[in-house]
Parts: sequence; C-alpha cells; structure tokens
Amino acid sequence: MRKAVLAGVILGVLSGCGGSDGDGGNDQGDFRNPMPTKQSVTKVFSLLGENEYSNLYQDVDLPHEAGSDLALKNNRWFCNAFACAVDNNTPPMDGMIRRHDIDQNLIPVYVNNANGLPEFEVHKNIYDGIKLIEDAVGRKVFDLSDADGEIPVVQIEILHDDGSMVWSHEVDYSSLPTEGGFIFEFNYEQAGHTGLCGAAGKGPWDSSGSTIIAADSTVVNLGWQWIRIASEDATCTHSPELVAHELTHALGFRYHFAGFGGEDRPSDPRPVYGSHVFGHQAKEVLKQLFAHDIGSDVNNMNIPNY
Ligand SMILES: [Zn+2]
Repeated sequence: MRKAVLAGVILGVLSGCGGSDGDGGNDQGDFRNPMPTKQSVTKVFSLLGENEYSNLYQDVDLPHEAGSDLALKNNRWFCNAFACAVDNNTPPMDGMIRRHDIDQNLIPVYVNNANGLPEFEVHKNIYDGIKLIEDAVGRKVFDLSDADGEIPVVQIEILHDDGSMVWSHEVDYSSLPTEGGFIFEFNYEQAGHTGLCGAAGKGPWDSSGSTIIAADSTVVNLGWQWIRIASEDATCTHSPELVAHELTHALGFRYHFAGFGGEDRPSDPRPVYGSHVFGHQAKEVLKQLFAHDIGSDVNNMNIPNY
C-alpha cells in the first residue's frame, strides 16, 4: 500500500456571505468575460496554492481510525479543519499543482435521492455539466457508470428523524462502494437553508467550501464532496454551466475569476460576481490543470500564449 501522506484543504469560495458560494444561475453575458491570457491563467493557478493556507488549521488525525464512528460510516477521510494532514511535516503546499489523480482513479459520482422517491430521475443537467468539464479537460474525469452505464442513484440521509440536519461528520456513507467521491443533491430547498443557487461543500448542508483530501501534498480521490443545485425559482435557474461551475469548485478552484463567475481584481482575489459561470477561461484553466503533472510549479508551467 502506498504511503498515505495526507493533506487537505477546504475549497470553495469565500465571499461576503458567510464563507459560502453565492453562485447564482443567471448568466451575465460575455461582455465581462475576456479571453484568457497566459498571465491570467497563471494567476488562477497561483491561487490554487496561495498563502491563505498559512491561516489554515491542520487536522493530523487522518485517516480516522478503524472502528471510530467516522470510519464505521465510511467517512475516514473527513476533514473538519481548513486543512488536513497525517503528518505535521507535510502541510498543504503552496505554488504547486495539486489535483485529482485521474490516471489512477476517475472520480466517483453519485446522485442522492435522499427521500427514496420512486420516480426519481437524474437531472439531465448533471450529465451535461459533467460533459462540459470533460470536454474542457479533453478526457474522462468522472466515473459515472453503474451497471446501466448511468450515474448511480444513492440514498443518503440528510435529515434526522426529528427533521434536524445531518451534519458533515454525521453522514453515513457505509452503503457506498467507494471511500469518496462527489455526491449531487439536486433541487434542494434553497429557502431557509443556504440561500444559494449552487454550492460545493463537505456535507449536504455545508457551504464553507469543498474539502479536497490530498496525498503527498497533492490531491487524490479520497473523501466526500457534495454539490448542491437549488430548486428553480425566481432567483435560480438550472443550467449545465451551473453544474460545471460547482464541479470546478469541487475540483479545487477556491476563488471566482474572470470567466468563472468573477472578474479580475488585481489586489484582491476574493470573488466578485458578474462573468459567465463557466466561460472559456474556466475551461482553459481546467484543461491546463489536468495537462500538467501533479506537483508542477505553478510559476513555471507551460501555458500557451493565447
Ligand atoms: Zn462559485
């Protein structure tokens, strides 16, 4: 077994609304969505491992020990800190490409049918959003297939019997065949919960950003991430681009940028909303992420001059 040196970071978007991702479904159009440049793509990558990690807590207890409540619930890689590592000497790395190792394992994807509805169907936008990501990367990224070649529908409880929320550390994944993956929760009730049209996080009600569990200070496919798309209403519309946007957060992009729901602000990387939720710059960044080796120096990447 390979030595598991693990580090994790909480990913997602820190914004003015409580550390959550306030993604709306409304496309503001291309006018604030410039073509990517070598400089802009390099800048986005530098944010993947930027100094914010110096503020992150590390959890050195991963994986949670066999027999523990988390292990029994197939949640051994649960990280409740901003960063997780089994070894204090391996903090999250700055300036380095860290990502899922899709050569080893495609990322398992599930769709949750929390209430066990008999008529449940996987929303077409999930397939279309996944296709947007894989078209951008130029290869398969996700493992969708159950026996029918479709995304497996699972039933994970997200509310306790008394109606209270099942928190990230309480979720029972023991019915799932993998130790991690992305779980879609579609048409969740926005009102009274998060107020977001889309969100990525480490649990069904978590909006603080996705957790990526890493080995050798780079990303591997461990741990659970939830991607939630709200019910459609006056403020939220469904689209494949919104699905692709949340998937991109879950793949490690913490901040918005021009062509990914935000715009460039030279001195402040925090998100400003306004550009296409999944525009051509987001596609280019994903393509370059997976075109480069894990551990690549973000400041010395071979990025074309557009
Ligand atoms: Zn976002």
